[in-house]
Amino acid sequence: MYDVVVKGGKLVSGFRETIKADLAIKGEKIAAIGDDLDGKYVIDASGKLVMPGVIDAHVHMELPVSGTRSSDDFSSGTKAAACGGVTTIIDFTVGSSKSTIPEDIENRLREAEKSHIDYALHAEVIGWHRSRSQEILKAAQMGVTSFKFFTAYGSSGRRTDRGALFEVFQIIGDLGALAVVHAEDEEVINYLMNALAEEELKNMVSLAKVRPPLCEAVAVSDAIYLAERANARLHIVHLSSALGLEALKRGKSFYKNVTAETCPQYLLLTQDVYENTDGHLYSASPALRSPYDLEALWDALYNEELSMIATDHCPFTREQKTWKGNFLDLPYGLPGVETALPLMFSEGVIKRHLPVGLLVKLLSENPAKIYGLFPKKGALQIGSDADIVILDPNEEWTISASNLHMNTDFSPFEGLKVHGQIYATLSRGEVIFEKGSFKGREGRGKFLRRSC
Ligand SMILES: [Zn+2]
Repeated sequence: MYDVVVKGGKLVSGFRETIKADLAIKGEKIAAIGDDLDGKYVIDASGKLVMPGVIDAHVHMELPVSGTRSSDDFSSGTKAAACGGVTTIIDFTVGSSKSTIPEDIENRLREAEKSHIDYALHAEVIGWHRSRSQEILKAAQMGVTSFKFFTAYGSSGRRTDRGALFEVFQIIGDLGALAVVHAEDEEVINYLMNALAEEELKNMVSLAKVRPPLCEAVAVSDAIYLAERANARLHIVHLSSALGLEALKRGKSFYKNVTAETCPQYLLLTQDVYENTDGHLYSASPALRSPYDLEALWDALYNEELSMIATDHCPFTREQKTWKGNFLDLPYGLPGVETALPLMFSEGVIKRHLPVGLLVKLLSENPAKIYGLFPKKGALQIGSDADIVILDPNEEWTISASNLHMNTDFSPFEGLKVHGQIYATLSRGEVIFEKGSFKGREGRGKFLRRSC
């Protein structure tokens, strides 16, 4: 007799065919897959899809930015995540030129303690100098093996220039860790900002104008060349444009250790929303793009040039995003951790015939592999953590901030009808969400220490 049995569902995982079977859990682990399994607690999954829980490898809970903090803390944000079928998040330390990377990790771990689901951390590297090389080694010993760099945001001191990137990539390469890059070329942005007329600052559309695909492509290309020479594994976050993709493809032709993700907002929304009266609510960087870019990103998911979908969840309320007459004075970021799976299932699998196994690969298996969590996470395998989402593909519902749990009063996808609803979410064998009700417990999530 097992502790929990998920009965009669269609098991989907990226690395094998979908099969109809029972899945049994003992303690925190998947213990058996087969027919007629018995458990103390049984979840009827007939007609439903059973998948490894989503790993959202790019979220920002309670992130200090623009004089405020993103509106989900680790408790509200991971509760919302669980309601959306997410069982692991990877957040970021809040780096600064004044603190050490190990200090940043310790501070962030204290904030993350209230999580409902398991979590890992990327270390933001801000203000690189040679003396920090020991900090990178220490971070890896602390279980943080991915390091995030910005090629933009010089004015807030977050930018790492190309020389410094080359130096630190070599350290990361020697260590076998992973460099994670936000790729937008600062100098292209600065030139376009300077060329902007005073009047255009008052126009939300200018956001897309000063941060165009060109700035992404230039930075992607630079990062790949530097990573190749330094022999460091490289991951590009939130790739948003066709031109950026071109740079990625070219880079992949001579360097195989590079991966990239995109986000639901770049697959579903385009920059014309900036013309709406509430266009400022969509402030994000990278900016939203054209329909042409959007189609190119979908193609890149099908042919697996993009390896991952992550959300860049960074929510703010309407009040926090109040328009002050200038697109530069807004906090940038969108909510998304709770809606990723239903949106991608509905718009990808149902509307665009993305194979459901590929979706699982993009949302779960590949993030686990790229970030060193596989097969503990991201797999329906005996011995893996019982992190599972059960999705009812027949349910239809309408996205609205009012029926979601993220701590914000708007959704960028408000009013969108979706096929497929989360039926249950299990985290290490514990049913934390079932039939619309949340059963998690603050602080039950565990820090996932990774190694190189
Ligand atoms: Zn981000």
